[in-house]
Amino acid sequence: MREIPTKKNCDVEGCSKESKKTVSREKAGAAIKEAGLNLSVKDKVTKAHLCSDHYRKIKKKLKKDREIDRLRWS
Ligand SMILES: [Zn+2]
Repeated sequence: MREIPTKKNCDVEGCSKESKKTVSREKAGAAIKEAGLNLSVKDKVTKAHLCSDHYRKIKKKLKKDREIDRLRWS
């Protein structure tokens, strides 16, 4: 069995850095859009890969979303 290291690149449009984080496409897409950027992934893809830079950029927004989720489900 061949093991190919799956190196993914950041899914933000115009960014070709190596991805470090995987975020649900739905959440990442909304946060990225809010930051004035676009994801280059297709709609049927459920996960978005982000480089550390872009992940840091949207981390705050993701955290906010998570808090909303928690309120909704508690
Ligand atoms: Zn990036």
